[in-house]
Amino acid sequence: MTKKRLTILGSTGSIGTSTLDIVRQFPHHFDVCALSCHSQVQQLAEQIREFHPKIVCIGTQEHADWLKKQFTANDLTIVCGDEGLIQLAAETKVDLVVAGIVGSAGLCSTYAAIERGYDVALANKESMVLSGELMIAKAQETGSTIFPVDSEHNAIFQSLVGHQHSDIEKIILTASGGPFRDTPLANFSEITLQDALNHPNWEMGNKITIDSATMMNKGLEIIEARWLFDIPVSQIDVVVHRESIVHSLVEYTDGSFIAQLGLPDMRIPIAFCLAYPDRLPLQNEKMKMTELGKLHFEPVDWKKFPCLQLAISAANLGGAAPAVLNGANEAVVAAYLEERIHFLEIAGILEKVLDQLCRFQETGKNNIPFLHHIETIDDALKADHWGRSAAHSLIN
Ligand code: MG
Repeated sequence: MTKKRLTILGSTGSIGTSTLDIVRQFPHHFDVCALSCHSQVQQLAEQIREFHPKIVCIGTQEHADWLKKQFTANDLTIVCGDEGLIQLAAETKVDLVVAGIVGSAGLCSTYAAIERGYDVALANKESMVLSGELMIAKAQETGSTIFPVDSEHNAIFQSLVGHQHSDIEKIILTASGGPFRDTPLANFSEITLQDALNHPNWEMGNKITIDSATMMNKGLEIIEARWLFDIPVSQIDVVVHRESIVHSLVEYTDGSFIAQLGLPDMRIPIAFCLAYPDRLPLQNEKMKMTELGKLHFEPVDWKKFPCLQLAISAANLGGAAPAVLNGANEAVVAAYLEERIHFLEIAGILEKVLDQLCRFQETGKNNIPFLHHIETIDDALKADHWGRSAAHSLIN
């Protein structure tokens, strides 16, 4: 393959470091042009020494000044803050932007890259959840290809290659079911934060691990899939698959199911996005079919995981609802991680926020445009913020 130039947004996070792991394995295939991180300044400095980017961005001016003292050669540009991040995403000429920032903080930089027509390896879920319609429309306009990094969406992307969209019967997202898939509902009142943080299959950040325990993660993935694959929510199913080996499937109208399988290792979907249409001979542990034994597929227990239904409701409401739900969920999960609320309160608070949104829309009073239609990234961020504030009021 020809050498690809990369921008990595969120380079010190889990997606960023996994991406750099792959680059380290295949130095002749990739050229790291730009790196950004929020606050891990020491780690960013190490990455600069190893990968020699042309430009880096960090959250604060203070950290940028510290970096400038460490790297005095003038072949490195150091920028900071939200504006610096957008400058880095839009102005660094690359072949692929890895959008690995977690949360709504990743929206503007992802959009900036799409606006410039760069291909994007999208790990930032919020880009699709908050503003999927806008991002996809912009990508179609500029010719940017969005490669999903999330294991489920990456599996669907792989299962769609070579097939026609009109032949899709259903998209089936697999869910590990999180740490509480076998916990009876009656015991949910005893769940502790440590239990929730103990995911059986994947090593992930705290926020996504909690989302996995509530299955909100799968709900947000339904919204993501809806936009990424231009498919109505009614054609997206979720099935619990405890082994996390089948990463998702596409059912076609003729009864064929095409799936992507592999060990739960994020480097596999990341490598796919980095090398597409080629494949990289990754030096990772390989799946041994005969050692897998049985694979299980079970229906979702909707009573245990009300967050999943809330996400579907938000997707069906459309407009600002997914963004509002996302903002509210971030606030609620943060409160949960601080042990200010119990696990069982998470869904209740989110339901109240969505109810508030519906009442606002029905009464039409305090006519707030962004609660009705999302027309810009700023609208999406405002709706997310509204959801966050509404949840904060309920938590306090
Ligand atoms: Mg996932």
